[in-house]
Amino acid sequence: MSAFKTVRGMRDFLPEEAKMMKYIEGKARKIAELYGYKEIITPVVESHELLAAKAGEEVRLRMYAFKDLGGRMIALRPEFTPSVARLVATTLRNEPRPFRLFCMGSLYRYDEPQQGRYREFWQSNFELMGSNKPEADAEIIMLTNSLMETVGLKNCVFKLGHVGVLRGILSKEKVDEKTENEVMQLMDKKQYDDALKLVEGAGVSGKCVATLRKLVELKGGRIFEIIEKMKKYVKSYEKAVDAAENLQEILKLVLESGCEIDMTVDAGFSRGLEYYTGMIFEAYVPELDIALGGGGRYDRLIELFGGEPTPAVGIAHGIGRIMMAMQRQKTLKTGEENRVMMIPVKSELKGEALKISQMLRDADIPVEVEVMGRKVTKALEDADRRKIKYAIIVGEKELNEGAVVIRNLMKREQSTVKIEKIIEKLESKS
Ligand code: AMP
Repeated sequence: MSAFKTVRGMRDFLPEEAKMMKYIEGKARKIAELYGYKEIITPVVESHELLAAKAGEEVRLRMYAFKDLGGRMIALRPEFTPSVARLVATTLRNEPRPFRLFCMGSLYRYDEPQQGRYREFWQSNFELMGSNKPEADAEIIMLTNSLMETVGLKNCVFKLGHVGVLRGILSKEKVDEKTENEVMQLMDKKQYDDALKLVEGAGVSGKCVATLRKLVELKGGRIFEIIEKMKKYVKSYEKAVDAAENLQEILKLVLESGCEIDMTVDAGFSRGLEYYTGMIFEAYVPELDIALGGGGRYDRLIELFGGEPTPAVGIAHGIGRIMMAMQRQKTLKTGEENRVMMIPVKSELKGEALKISQMLRDADIPVEVEVMGRKVTKALEDADRRKIKYAIIVGEKELNEGAVVIRNLMKREQSTVKIEKIIEKLESKS
């Protein structure tokens, strides 16, 4: 049998990376708590119909979809939003609004693996449902910025747009919904020429093509100037003007909140998922050209799932991508930990070594017991290699006096310490 490896697009997280992932998840959970988002846990497997309903062609074609043994067409979730929307349309339908819901876990997409793109990946996902107000959109942007800051990322840039601008133009020009979605998909992939060709083919006015051409080139960091231009370009498309004004209001609120967010507006910006109806955004750091998170407003999804009309806005943060950004920026400081290696000098002292270990763990001090039957010198070498800070050597002579030897492996010093003073000694950082 040949040596096994992970399936294409899947990855293992070895201890250091696993620790980083859990660190980021912990920070995301803390942000959820600080902003009042309640965590829910939904199944990895959902009905194919639910997940396919409004995902957009890109995601739809890349789902891990199959029939289960009962003949049901199911799929592994490629995103969280349909599951949360399902809950709000059904079980939670009579609960008071707004809903602030948070979920975290793995997602599956049969994407072509490349840098930062896997077939299994992890997201923290925040959904604010029930409000159509710009302060709800502003909150989602702000909490994303809080997450980036709290994990220590620097120079984060938010790219923002509003699907209502492009869709407002296309719907007034009577482009059918299918073509409209195709245009948005092409725009998402920055295939602007193909998008414009498709629009022309749909029989729109010359003015429409000229407007779209100007919009796809309109972007930059002078956000309010860009929005003013946007409004001017689209002035004969009322819905597009409303959309630009909505974006303006959201960005104004974000700035008024006092949080220092570096924002750019991109008038031709579109995102792959079909259900967006309003503001959309993605977060980046200069060291990576792939998004760390993305989201936006989707006001009709819950209704589509049979629920009450419920406007909503949400964001998904890619935990693995945030980890990559932290590695590039070298943000994670590996603090010295009070880890202990417990070494009994001889076999008869194993029980005592186990007992002291338990005492330390009860005081929240991590202890690894030497279980390889090594002699003290070998065991110390091993502890050193594992970057463990302290070794506790349990020897007969000291034990007779109710003590052990504590060796600081970093400082290469040791002293004899009474058992009841061990915790104090380890916590004194000497
Ligand atoms: P989306 O659900 O497509 O809006 O993506 C939201 C975020 O999830 C992205 O900005 C990425 O950080 C992350 N993400 C999406 N797809 C993948 C993937 N195939 N591999 C790793 N991360 C991903």
